[in-house]
Amino acid sequence: MESDVLIVGGGVAGLSLAAALSGQRRVTVLEAEGSLGHHSSGRSATFSHFGIGNEIVRGLTAASRDFFKQPPDGFSEAPIARTATALFIATEAMLATLDTLEDAMRQHAPGVRRVGEAEMVSLFPPLRTGPGAVVAGIVDADGLRLDADALLQGYARTIRSRGGKVLAEARVASVAPQRGGWAVVTDTGDRLAAPILVNAAGAWADGIARMANVAPLGLRPLRRTIIIVDPPGGADVAGWPFVKTAVDDFYILPEGGRLAASPVDEVPDDPCDAQPEDYDIALAAWKVEEYTTLAVPRVQHRWAGLRTFASDRTPVAGFDPRVPGFFWLAGQGGFGLQTAPAMAEAAAALILSAAWPEQLAALGISPHVLGPERLIHG
Ligand SMILES: Cc1cc2nc3c(=O)[nH]c(=O)nc-3n(C[C@H](O)[C@H](O)[C@H](O)COP(=O)(O)OP(=O)(O)OC[C@H]3O[C@@H](n4cnc5c(N)ncnc54)[C@H](O)[C@@H]3O)c2cc1C
Repeated sequence: MESDVLIVGGGVAGLSLAAALSGQRRVTVLEAEGSLGHHSSGRSATFSHFGIGNEIVRGLTAASRDFFKQPPDGFSEAPIARTATALFIATEAMLATLDTLEDAMRQHAPGVRRVGEAEMVSLFPPLRTGPGAVVAGIVDADGLRLDADALLQGYARTIRSRGGKVLAEARVASVAPQRGGWAVVTDTGDRLAAPILVNAAGAWADGIARMANVAPLGLRPLRRTIIIVDPPGGADVAGWPFVKTAVDDFYILPEGGRLAASPVDEVPDDPCDAQPEDYDIALAAWKVEEYTTLAVPRVQHRWAGLRTFASDRTPVAGFDPRVPGFFWLAGQGGFGLQTAPAMAEAAAALILSAAWPEQLAALGISPHVLGPERLIHG
């Protein structure tokens, strides 16, 4: 066997793990598409903040921040992250949710503080405030804006520089157990084998399991839509914050001189090249007009991507207890970029039988918390 570990999926999950293993194991990443980040990893809002997910997700987000702030030497010529402000907003009806969110965020972001209408408007001038609109907010000046492309390319460069392989246009067409490991055939007929197969196929992860005759975990791909709209005439939006409602029904943030907005939709979909639907585009435009004073006469650009969740919305990293050498790295939902460094470290520790990362243990995140056992019934 030419590889110790075959990783199916060249998104942020597969690449970050491959980078963590490379140099210690012979790693090959198999990516179906011709370019990295074609699916979820290239379609995200690229923000790292503590206003998303459960306590485990927040812990993984916290444990990933050092990597983003100070990546290993030579990882990327371009910065992979920069500090950016996150503002969470509430109407009168959302105040209780804002309180809960503030308590949860404070565990990891002690600088979180309440802001009034005037400060919210100075941060994000078109915000619609006052009775019937946004009345309260909390701000975290220590969020991170990530550069997904720099991150993916940095991981790929790390893998290759340590002798690992990243193969594009290598769609896995069959997976079968073979003595002491797994044999994979791609749709171009290439055959590869390794003792360990990592399933990091994003929305397709359950499908890869079925291919291998392993029962799926019940992962659900949910589609999310982003639209790009013009900012108010002449405004320089570069320093504007990421703004999100406390109840998860809208966010907006600067994107290449314009504004990217989402109705925070979660529409069940099949694993596919997700495309935005007219209804969700219209909903996004309507939410922009509801929460801001901006008019949206034209949507400049739009896209959609899949966020794939386990039933408990905690990501999955661990060997399948039912079949030897089959490792799950899946269910990263809407937080797969911001948790990738910590998830990769955790997954690498399990694959290498190395010590569990102390930082994760201190945050109450054990192998048991992330392992697939919790999703296997019967
Ligand atoms: C609109 C949107 C906004 C988001 N915003 C954020 C955000 O602000 N912050 C954040 O942290 N996260 C965000 N996310 C979530 C984040 O993008 C995902 O959690 C993350 O990209 C998942 O990474 P992945 O590697 O598991 O999946 P993917 O990037 O989808 O990678 C899986 C790869 O597997 C490949 N594959 C599938 N089948 C096969 C096969 N048979 N053979 C070979 N390869 C195969 C696919 O081609 C794909 O490239 C957002 C997602 C969306 C859609």
